[in-house]
Amino acid sequence: YSFISMGLNSDLVENIKNKLGVEKPTNIQRRAIPVLMSSISNNERKEENFDVVVQAETGSGKTLTYLFPIIHQLISITANIQDNKILSRSIGTLAIILTPTRELAIQILSVLEALINIPSSKERHLAHWIVAGSVIGGEKRQSEKARLRKGINILVCTPGRLLDHLQNTKSFLVENLSWLILDEADRLLELGFEETLQSILKILEEKTNGPLKNQLYPFTKFWPNRRQTVLCSATLKDEVKRLAGYALSNPIFIGG
Ligand code: AMP
Repeated sequence: YSFISMGLNSDLVENIKNKLGVEKPTNIQRRAIPVLMSSISNNERKEENFDVVVQAETGSGKTLTYLFPIIHQLISITANIQDNKILSRSIGTLAIILTPTRELAIQILSVLEALINIPSSKERHLAHWIVAGSVIGGEKRQSEKARLRKGINILVCTPGRLLDHLQNTKSFLVENLSWLILDEADRLLELGFEETLQSILKILEEKTNGPLKNQLYPFTKFWPNRRQTVLCSATLKDEVKRLAGYALSNPIFIGG
């Protein structure tokens, strides 16, 4: 198995090789990426996509397991649009990655930024519109709001701040959300975030249940019907299973 044989964009694969020295998929990547990719098509919207529980330790390559398919999906949609004028702002947030700590969020964001900065001139236009960012506190709420208003397409955040903005920042557009990643779910629960997570899920449920925002045109043809949720956790304790039970729908469990 190689990343290319999983159907991932070759310029993206090349970029990751050059930037991170990543060439061959790890065990968890080999098992989970094809499942996440099965809901992504270059030419049409797939009717089905899967929620996935990834049981993997830090160091197993879990971050790329979800970042790879997310970026691939955004790039392949762009590739299908002739008139390549995509406004990061008007389509809003397409993926949210929830992490237990600021440090982890910062680390994920730096990988994400390396990945979407694809230097190859031929493919550069595919990812240039994608804005990645974090909302983790530690800066003024107003400046976070301003960044959200401009549109952060892939957002890495901690639970408290995300809930705050979902409740209070009117121009934070999540109606087109296509991915929700709960990273290090066991630590999210250990740190006491369960209630916050439940509030976040409830708001997302309400906001993302309707039709796609028409700003997403001409995306709609290629965009999945429903949001896909991925839960990553080093352990599958009862609390984690319970969270998976209500945060995900009919999840597929994949171990390392
Ligand atoms: P993670 O488990 O996501 O925290 O990743 C741990 C480390 O493994 C990071 O430094 C990654 O850059 C690296 N890594 C991820 N996937 C691979 C791979 N397929 N081959 C080699 N290193 C990898």
